[in-house]
Amino acid sequence: HHILSEFLPDEAATLACGARLARALRPGTVVYLEGDLGAGKTTLTRGILRGMGYAGRVKSPTYTLVEPYSLPNLYFHHFDLYRFADPLEWEDAGFREYFNRESVCLVEWPDKAEGFLPEPDWRIALRPEQTGRRLTLVAPTTHGQACLAQLTA
Ligand code: ADP
Ligand code: MG
Repeated sequence: HHILSEFLPDEAATLACGARLARALRPGTVVYLEGDLGAGKTTLTRGILRGMGYAGRVKSPTYTLVEPYSLPNLYFHHFDLYRFADPLEWEDAGFREYFNRESVCLVEWPDKAEGFLPEPDWRIALRPEQTGRRLTLVAPTTHGQACLAQLTA
């Protein structure tokens, strides 16, 4: 089972789904999070962070490109690359070092930095369905599949 598909009727469902995903995420995981503006990407990320025990504010790193969180068992780096334009910035800002074995990196708008990002362990898409959303999760790597197995066990 390398695929998960779930209908999320409302925002609460998106947050709950994020909390569930949080329990399966291990350090060293790269997550691509795809979907249009307003699809619920940041809401899902908020749910993941809540599920990891982070009680503070989760704001969209629209201008800073990344918001780092230091959690008890791992680092969590939330990227929003919607405004990513300058490839030089990638090296200058040291973004490459964020992708390491101690960190979960979750990337909104990964297509904006194609060629710079490591391959994803999970590829999550959020699409409108009725008045809610459809979440689809694909795990292309063995690491991602092992995480997903935790979730569906
Ligand atoms: P994105 O980061 O993809 O641009 P946001 O998470 O910032 O999207 O905003 C998504 C909007 O959609 C928020 O207003 C949120 O309340 C709403 N939303 C989130 N999940 C759902 C859902 N499953 N059904 C309906 N509305 C949702
Ligand atoms: Mg967002």
